[in-house]
Amino acid sequence: MKIVDKIIGTYSEREIKRIRPLVDKIESLRPRMQALSDEELRNKTAEYRKRLEEGETLDDLLPEAYATVREATARVLKTEHYKVQLIGGIIMVHGDNEGLVLPPRVAPVQVCIVPIQQKKEGVLDKAYELRDRLKGNFRVKVDDTDKSPGWKFAEAEMRGYPVRIEIGPKDMEAGKCVLCRRDTREKIEVTLEELEAKVGELLDRIQKEMLERARDHRDKNTYTAADMEEFEKIFAEKSGFVKAMWCGDEACENVIKEKLSVTSRCMPFEQEHIADTCVCCGKPAKKMVYWGRAY
Ligand SMILES: [Zn+2]
Repeated sequence: MKIVDKIIGTYSEREIKRIRPLVDKIESLRPRMQALSDEELRNKTAEYRKRLEEGETLDDLLPEAYATVREATARVLKTEHYKVQLIGGIIMVHGDNEGLVLPPRVAPVQVCIVPIQQKKEGVLDKAYELRDRLKGNFRVKVDDTDKSPGWKFAEAEMRGYPVRIEIGPKDMEAGKCVLCRRDTREKIEVTLEELEAKVGELLDRIQKEMLERARDHRDKNTYTAADMEEFEKIFAEKSGFVKAMWCGDEACENVIKEKLSVTSRCMPFEQEHIADTCVCCGKPAKKMVYWGRAY
């Protein structure tokens, strides 16, 4: 999955420049988010959804949505999103060359129905009927604009709708429709009777597989180092994260930062024992830390 490559270590200067204003915007929203009560913070999601329905674009809302997630994470997990993780997150939702790829659970629209040859009798009605069947359980819309199906497909991809449903006269005759996954582009033919069940299964599968791919990629790009020699060697040869022990002294963090442009990223709750001593100074270690190259 190309996009995860970008998150972990290999994204280009140009891409970072492109999203830097977004990151700065998120940073600037921080005091406002910190001032909210827990309940006000919780209500934000509903507010964004409403504003989206009222015509604000996802791009308008993204900085606030991120600032909210960041603040909620800070309160619940007592941990901070680092700037680089924000950048990674933004690239992740910004998706591939065709646009966004959103996990179904956070997607404002989970299913977009695209009628094919919608001027033909009954096609639009069928599309609305499918929408009405699905809307109790999913966030669904029909693209009934006058644009061509090709245009609508491209737009659905750009906006990152996890599942697109294609329905035209031939499908109707056969009692079928086509589901198309945004993440893999896979197309699946289903009968109209089994629509609700198949859409539900597919959204669950997309959610699960996107998470698995991201985890898998992270794990494949995470290394361990017991001492400075190993630590330096990994950062010289690979991109990704390194798990290593730390004594807790900021001086060591600074040495590592100066020497390798590497900073601590996260002190996981689930600690592992990699060595008895600090990777930098050799004094007794207190914590295992994830380290990554700073940008
Ligand atoms: Zn140390």
